[in-house]
Amino acid sequence: LSERLGGVFDRLTKQGALSEDDVKTALREVRVALLEADVSLPVARSFIKAVEKKATGAAVTKSVTPGQQVVKIVHDELIQVLTGEGEPGALKIDNAPAPILMVGLQGGGKTTTTAKLARRLKDRDGKRVLMASLDIYRPAAMEQLKILGEQIGVDTLPIVAGQSPVEIAKRAKQQATLGGYDVYMLDTAGRLQIDQVLMQEVEDVRDAVKPRETLLVVDGLTGQVAVEVAQEFDDKIGISGVVLTRMDGDGRGGAALSMRAITGKPIKFVGLGEKMDALETFEPERIAGRILGMGDIVALVEKAQQTLEVEQAERMMKRFQKGQFNMNDLKMQLEQMMKMGGLEGMMSMMPGAGKMAKQMEGAGIDDKVIRQQIALIQSMTKKERANPQILQASRKKRIAAGAGMDVSDLNKLLKMQRQMSDMMKKLGKMGKGGMLKQAMK
Ligand code: GDP
Ligand code: MG
Repeated sequence: LSERLGGVFDRLTKQGALSEDDVKTALREVRVALLEADVSLPVARSFIKAVEKKATGAAVTKSVTPGQQVVKIVHDELIQVLTGEGEPGALKIDNAPAPILMVGLQGGGKTTTTAKLARRLKDRDGKRVLMASLDIYRPAAMEQLKILGEQIGVDTLPIVAGQSPVEIAKRAKQQATLGGYDVYMLDTAGRLQIDQVLMQEVEDVRDAVKPRETLLVVDGLTGQVAVEVAQEFDDKIGISGVVLTRMDGDGRGGAALSMRAITGKPIKFVGLGEKMDALETFEPERIAGRILGMGDIVALVEKAQQTLEVEQAERMMKRFQKGQFNMNDLKMQLEQMMKMGGLEGMMSMMPGAGKMAKQMEGAGIDDKVIRQQIALIQSMTKKERANPQILQASRKKRIAAGAGMDVSDLNKLLKMQRQMSDMMKKLGKMGKGGMLKQAMK
């Protein structure tokens, strides 16, 4: 009976695996969606290829079609690629005064974004900010920043005619130091296209102030062009992050994916309008949904997965109440732990598991060990998982070898399972599993 019960979990979680055909068919549609969203062709191509590898053979959630499952996998992968390292929207602005260099083509939204960001740093982070325009080519540009500064209550460097961008940058640094500012922002001049003079000028400014952040401001609607611009600026100047503007428009924002794939630099903010408060921290989930344009399907699969998790939890609770805890249960617990970010998250789950987590922590068990333990369980047959007590020396040897581990590792795992099983029996006796029931809620 318990052998059959063991299999129930597998049957519940999957109705099968994604075949190569399933994946290929679904990805054709995804490819069209990506291109429509203005993802650059080579990026779309390599992204699809990566997903194809990942998705083939993956489990299909109950009550979901293979195609829907692929879309969900694509969505998750998109988020993965879009997510940069570190805290979203974080800036390195310790060691006052910290220089932030704003670069990009003309009309991309540099000046507007400089002011938006200054406002955010002032209002949200309580920073004292000084802004300076290095655009000596268009007198109106300096005036534009000054007016924005007045509007948002942020100081701008007084305009002095006849200075070079580097001279202005140095003056900004001096004033920021003397004036006790936390941050000074340098809004550089742009060109309609990348040219050598522009690049040299920005390089000189960079060398003069050694910016803590160099943010590339690009029009998110320009797709392919945005990517070329990003690559060029990153090669020549070295950028620390990207701000995508005009994301309030109709565009689906495929540039975000191309940008991440090609430069690997984090997208820190998105511009969502002309107003000074229209700047937001970049949210990978939101952009992923927009690029793919298949939010309904993703929601459906997520719902199905949630339903399944609840069913699983209920089923498990029933088993625990009967004091049953075999290797399938342990495997699920271990996988849950990995999913919940290790031992810490596990503690809050349920009394039994919390105790196990504590024991494991005491024994110096980390995520790597958990992965190895899962591998050991995977190396067992169905029968062995359901009845770990049948494991004798020869079976143990085979299992350990299959997982590339020692029999002593397997013994530790078996001990853990026995302890858990004992604990479950005790808990089960405590009146219809009252404690467990509560913990599962
Ligand atoms: P710069 O040449 O790079 O300094 O670009 P500007 O900051 O002067 O911006 C050019 C135009 O784009 C201005 O009219 C801005 O109001 C507008 N703009 C900037 N960011 C955004 C945005 O996120 N959304 C929209 N809709 N317009 C923006
Ligand atoms: Mg400007």
